[in-house]
Amino acid sequence: MLLRHTPKEITERKALTINPAKTCQPIGAMYAALGIHGCLPHSHGSQGCCAYHRSALTRHYKEPVSASTSSFTEGASVFGGQANMLQAINNIFSVYNPDVIAIHTTCLSETIGDDLPQIKKKAETEGKIPKGKYVISASTPSYSGSHVTGFSNMVTAMADMAEPSGKKNGKINVIPGWVEPADMEEIKRLTNMVGVKTILFPDTSGVLNGPLSGEYKMFPDGGTTVAELKSTADSIGTLALGEWCSADAARLLDKKHKVPCSVLDMPFGLKATDRFIDALRTVAGVTVPDEVSMERGQLVDMISDMHQYFYKKKVALAGDPDQLIAMTEFLVSIDMCPVHIVTGTPGKKFEKRIKEITKDMGCKVNVKAKGDLFLLHQWIKNEPVDLLMCNTYGKYIARDEDIPLVRWGFPILDRQGHQYFPTVGYKGGLRLLEKILGVLLDRKDRDSPEETFELVL
Ligand code: SF4
Repeated sequence: MLLRHTPKEITERKALTINPAKTCQPIGAMYAALGIHGCLPHSHGSQGCCAYHRSALTRHYKEPVSASTSSFTEGASVFGGQANMLQAINNIFSVYNPDVIAIHTTCLSETIGDDLPQIKKKAETEGKIPKGKYVISASTPSYSGSHVTGFSNMVTAMADMAEPSGKKNGKINVIPGWVEPADMEEIKRLTNMVGVKTILFPDTSGVLNGPLSGEYKMFPDGGTTVAELKSTADSIGTLALGEWCSADAARLLDKKHKVPCSVLDMPFGLKATDRFIDALRTVAGVTVPDEVSMERGQLVDMISDMHQYFYKKKVALAGDPDQLIAMTEFLVSIDMCPVHIVTGTPGKKFEKRIKEITKDMGCKVNVKAKGDLFLLHQWIKNEPVDLLMCNTYGKYIARDEDIPLVRWGFPILDRQGHQYFPTVGYKGGLRLLEKILGVLLDRKDRDSPEETFELVL
């Protein structure tokens, strides 16, 4: 009973978050920046913030995460961090020689009011940025938004690197949103199978799920290159997967370089993956190959085989808006009932979209943007569920209420492997179903009396 003080009675709260369903903006910016090849993320603030952001990513991805910091002390906190930033740019290019420094702010530097574009300009004027090297920046104050906002802001800064060459490249930009490195790999595999040339950004595959080779590389082989990011201005279109994580970057490319964009849901589950494949097919003018149809058919087969176990099972979900929208649609499509859904990220559009997806489900749905895990727990106490899908923080609720838990989202701190196995696309759908059914049937086995403890389920 670790959360024994959570009461069943729900009291309206406006100015208090308990057990947040989100983390701070710079973590998202740092994760996105790691998806650029040869990039060193830089935290403009105190060392403590940077240490926390790096460790949060390392604990989830189980990989070392390099990042530098402006190392604010009392002086910078009072007079501003320009001098620290200029010194940092000089040091980083001299010592580590990255292709790109991706700077994000923190609560402290935002509160002081440091102007990153102006500092960057000063660094350029003073010759601190070597030729062929780049400094990009995103404003990521953690007292607004969430890690999702920080991710989106950094991806938008990447889109701002686009430079038209005057000649179209025949490619489609795909912005995958905050998904696992294995999901990014899977999106590339699917686009290759459909026969579409793409520029995927950011791309953390090969960076945060790379091999153990025995040789240390400051900058791993993966990541979207600077040349590719520049070339996004020459692409024939952009597919942004997720309104919260990816749409701003896609719209910037549309506005600045007339690269038309479509905003789709993240391809979790059957319907969202269908829409992604269909969009690829339409934009590139190709037909869907048999191998892709085969994978789709396997997912449909697995859904029909397992349907009896999913039917009308109640689910509680916590996570990020883009993932939750697609996952809710997937669960409804297999006749499960997502009845409690929270995200820590603000945005009323989220609640509207969830209500649309669940409107024909036939039961009441609790949904809250800018909610927290305390509220989710209270909802569960009032209406128990058969399954909880949440990041590692959900394990406290799962233990107290004795609910099967599927770890899903960010961060997962107490299990491994999520960075290697995709959950997007048709193949990813198979993995999600396997995980969900596994915990439901483990529970059935555990609770069955001897006379109904079956060998074959
Ligand atoms: S001070 Fe702000 S940026 Fe730094 S760790 Fe805390 S919430 Fe994040």
